[in-house]
Amino acid sequence: MSETPLLSSVQRFLDSDPGSFVDGQRVSESGAERFEVYNPSNASVLTLVSHASEALVERAVEAAHSAFHGSWGSTSPYLRGVALNRLADLIEANAEELAQLESLSSGKSIHLTRQLEVPQSVVFLRYFAGWATKIHGQTMTPSLPSFQGEQYAAFTRREAVGVVAGITPWNFSLMIGIWKIASALTCGCTLVLKPSEFTPLSLLRIAELAVEAGIPAGALNIVNGSGRIGQQLIGHKRIAKVSFTGSVPTGVAVGKAAISANLTRVTLELGGKNPAAFLADVDVDAAVEGILQTAYVHQGQVCAAPERLYIHRSKVEAICAKLSERLGAMKVGGALDESAQFGPLANKAHHDKILGFFAQANARGQVICGGKPLPGPGYFVQPTLLKALGEHDPFLQEETFGPIVTVLPFDDEDELVRMMNDSPFGLGASVWTNDLAKAMRLIPRIEAGTVWVNMHTFLDPAVPFGGVKGSGIGREFGSAFIDDYTELKSVMMRF
Ligand code: NAP
Repeated sequence: MSETPLLSSVQRFLDSDPGSFVDGQRVSESGAERFEVYNPSNASVLTLVSHASEALVERAVEAAHSAFHGSWGSTSPYLRGVALNRLADLIEANAEELAQLESLSSGKSIHLTRQLEVPQSVVFLRYFAGWATKIHGQTMTPSLPSFQGEQYAAFTRREAVGVVAGITPWNFSLMIGIWKIASALTCGCTLVLKPSEFTPLSLLRIAELAVEAGIPAGALNIVNGSGRIGQQLIGHKRIAKVSFTGSVPTGVAVGKAAISANLTRVTLELGGKNPAAFLADVDVDAAVEGILQTAYVHQGQVCAAPERLYIHRSKVEAICAKLSERLGAMKVGGALDESAQFGPLANKAHHDKILGFFAQANARGQVICGGKPLPGPGYFVQPTLLKALGEHDPFLQEETFGPIVTVLPFDDEDELVRMMNDSPFGLGASVWTNDLAKAMRLIPRIEAGTVWVNMHTFLDPAVPFGGVKGSGIGREFGSAFIDDYTELKSVMMRF
């Protein structure tokens, strides 16, 4: 075991009360209720954080409102892009500190935060920064009749919606936070962001770096605490849009609350039960490698990760045997253990939930490999592979959001498509084959926001991402995000 030594800046951060970040500075209210943030690698308390009071949330919204109508609202698109690029540079310069803060509270491997979450946050931020100068409306020529020689012209403007409430989950709190920060600020909106109470640390550092990058006080505020802060934000009359990423049940409640608050705009990036289909021609080793890279990364706590594997009957046995062998050999360890290949679940509640799934799978005799907890004190479990008991097996329906993958064989493509689409969700799906013509014919038949071929879960800022059916409303990335963070104003003129 080789454990990453903690940076002194990270230790200082943990020793302080990290608090919230409002109107350009960190705030820890005296006498505030404080909540514990745990290290899932050893179940110890990492730090205590003040829960933002209603009054502090109110201050955050007012600060964002003032910045929207003042400093940030009057910043030119070019300078908005410059500031976001500077923030990207600062994230790069402070990458190790951010990686450690993120890994400590989420249980995510330090390799993953160093090699993916932090650098990809930089890539996304720079991509969004480039859009700041490219947000525009259109001109059109009205067809109104002219009785006395009068003429008409019309055009549209894209105007920032205002103050955005961002609500984020615990699995990739830094990167998902950056997606919301970058989308809002690029369009000229300002933001009050509520991270998950399990992972309240890394975005506070991002907010400090944003000020250093020249993003004015009030444009980005972080309010830490429980879901009730989310409720306060959603119901607030100054919030013009809610951008939520999280589970389906919370997302449905958030959507209803936003609509009834003020017909507030809402985008929902929710969970999935993503299928991956392995056709008869797949190479067994490549298939196993692909499953390991996508289904078990961050212990399966990835919204788009494949949880349902439909494997052609001719390959099921070989793939399951090799996959079980590789899963059984994985080295398990804490998030900062550089030799570990598989880490802890992110929190105790989630650990308990996964143990509940294990009990059901063991009782029904479905375990191919894994299916047991591992010794603590951290929240460790075995990476697990299950066989489905028919196409309506509950393990093919409910999201586990953990390292539990369920396999079902298929014989022909019509059966495959029917089984892949038999889900209330539609976030991502993948098809693995060397026959690209076959893949191209399957793509339109699959009900999902993204279909990957010979890959799964890879996200790119240029490619829109979001769910169909119960997996959400709206799209992030590409140019699609602009529709969600701006109002389209029409202007008509007679002359
Ligand atoms: P969650 O329980 O729904 O929580 C998400 C956020 O909502 C957290 O900040 C949570 O605060 C807050 N919240 C809880 N109750 C609320 C309420 N009544 N009103 C407003 N906000 C409230 O989800 P999670 O367990 O953190 O994350 C896992 C889920 O996220 C999975 O289903 C996963 O698939 C999904 N996810 C989706 C995407 C995507 O892009 N589609 C990406 C990542 C994750 P507290 O944590 O402080 O309670």
